[in-house]
Parts: sequence; C-alpha cells; structure tokens
Amino acid sequence: MTQNTGISNNILDLIGNTPLIKLNKITKNLIGNFYVKYEGFNPGHSMKDRIAIHIIEEAERQGLLKKGSTIIETTSGNTGFSIALVSIIKGYKCILAVNSKASAGKINMLKAMGAKVYVCPAHVNADDPRSYYEVAKRLHRETANSVYINQYFNKLNGDAHYHSTGPEIWNQTNGEVTHIVAASGTGGTISGVSKYLKEQNPAIKTLGVDAFGSILKKFHETREFDKNEIYPYRIEGLGKNLIPTATDFDVIDVFEKVTDEAAAHRARELALTEGLFTGYTSGAVVQATLQYAEKGYFDKNSKVVLILPDHGSRYMEKIYSDDWMRDQGFFDTQKQAHEVVEYI
Ligand code: PMP
Repeated sequence: MTQNTGISNNILDLIGNTPLIKLNKITKNLIGNFYVKYEGFNPGHSMKDRIAIHIIEEAERQGLLKKGSTIIETTSGNTGFSIALVSIIKGYKCILAVNSKASAGKINMLKAMGAKVYVCPAHVNADDPRSYYEVAKRLHRETANSVYINQYFNKLNGDAHYHSTGPEIWNQTNGEVTHIVAASGTGGTISGVSKYLKEQNPAIKTLGVDAFGSILKKFHETREFDKNEIYPYRIEGLGKNLIPTATDFDVIDVFEKVTDEAAAHRARELALTEGLFTGYTSGAVVQATLQYAEKGYFDKNSKVVLILPDHGSRYMEKIYSDDWMRDQGFFDTQKQAHEVVEYI
C-alpha cells in the first residue's frame, strides 16, 4: 500500500497481509482457540500470488527476466492464475501447459488473464513428449528469455512463505501461535511458514494435511516411497504422487489424512457456519483440525492457525454443486442423511 494516500500503485501491492479470523462455530466443541489465515483475500484469490511475485521478482533480480520475457509453468490451478496476474502487470508473456482434464472454465479464466494455454493430453506418461511437463520443458528450451517456474522443485516456493506468510502469522498472533495446520501439495506453504515460526519458537507444532491416495504422510514417517499409497482421489491441490523437493519434511511434525467426502462437506459447513467461502483444501484443513483435536493435540491454551489456501469461487462445479456431490456418492450414505444440510 502506498504510504499516506491509501491508494495502491497496482493490484500486486495487495498481495499478502491476508486476515486472520477467529473460528466461532465450527470448532465450538473443541478445546483451544482456532483462527484461519484466509488466503482467498489475495487479489488472485489464493496464496499462490505470494510465490508468483516472489519467484518472478527473484528472477528479475538475477537478470533472468526482462520486459517482454516469457514465464512458463505447468498448472491449470491457482499458480497459473497468479503467474498470469503478475505477468500482466509486469509486462511478461505467460505460457501455461495444462493437461486436458482441466475444465473449460479454468482454461477460460487463465485466458482472461492473458495466458497462452497449451492443452496437453492427460493420459500419457510424464516423459512422453506430449505431456504437459515435456511441453513446458521444450517451450522453455525453445523460447529465448524464458523462465520455468517449476513450483514443485523450486526452493523459492517455500522462501516466499518464509518471508511473508510466516511473519504475518507470527505478528498477527503477537507471537502466541502454538500450532499451524496446513495442506501440503508442493509443500511450499507448510515448509516456509513452519521454518519461520519454528525459528521464532521451536515449540510451535506444524500439523500437515494429506489426502488418502497421496504418498506424503507415509514418506514423512518412513522416508520410503511406497507406491501402494498412491491411488486417485478428488481433492485438488493437496497431496502428491511424487516427492517434491519444495517440501522440507524435517519442519513438519506430523501428517493427518482426510477423505474426499469429509473435506467437501467440511468446506460447505465452513461457508454455512462461519460465512467463509473457501476451496476444497480449506475444507480438508478444517477436517484435519477436527481429527487432530480428537487425537488430543490441543489444550485450552492452544492458539491454532489454520491456513486456508484459496477462495470458493473456483469450485462452483465441484464441491458447491449438489449434482457433483451426488455423483461422487457424497450424499448417499445413511450417516449423511442426518448430517447433511439441505442445500436446495
Ligand atoms: N490448496 C490448494 C487449493 C492449492 O492449489 C495448493 C497448491 N498445490 C495447496 C493447497 C497446497 O499448497 P502448497 O503447494 O504450498 O503445498
């Protein structure tokens, strides 16, 4: 924010400094105090704005980017949107290689932000020249003055959170935070935030959130790659089928897995109870917090910060669609007939 005038120079000035909001209802039966760091308040509606601006400005400092350069990444998700946003303001071209599973709505959104989108076949191996990884690598090789963000294997991903999200949480809680609960995909958020907070107070506990079908929890516990852990699941953005070097497993204390179904219902409940309209992984983070509470992780002095990665508007065709919920079988079970609120 520009000093004194109250006017921002451009939209990028508004990245970060997201609010910390107390949960009042959804955690009312738990012992402890619970707050959400709601990253949907970023201008690109997710915490990925932080890594986009950090990585791009670092590349500028290193002289890798000049006006008119090209930024390349492989994602149809939040990171793609954030890179496109930063590219517009800074005058870079943005190329996103996405796989053909990405919805038309997502591709339109990226195009609306000026990105050139390459749609690559989803069902080919990662090393196939048509895969979105290989297409991105080739475009990077062939395009002069281009930078490949490569968020899963880029150390600057965690650095972005070490320098912004972590200090914000520390300051907003006056240094009283005792636990963080965070989803892990690339691992950038949880690793960067945790490293910063543990440097301030080593007693702070970092509680990770993983999906059934993902390798992260098992790898954290055993440091072995057990491919039996890997199978398809619905939650997007959390969990992984490979080990990203952007994740620092040493600063994560424990992982908890959540189901697709519980996370989806919990996101809907968060909207209905707290008025927080968030994404699927935010539901996963709240669900994991409830599971951690049940396992006795918190006491009455606990100040627990849940990092909610993004805004709910990107999930209208998924968790906020009754048809989609029904198609997944998430409205079907006897148990839910009593728990599910009517959304019609
Ligand atoms: N939630 C959503 C919606 C995401 O897009 C991501 C990023 N893959 C995450 C959670 C996980 O964050 P990180 O990549 O920083 O681990």
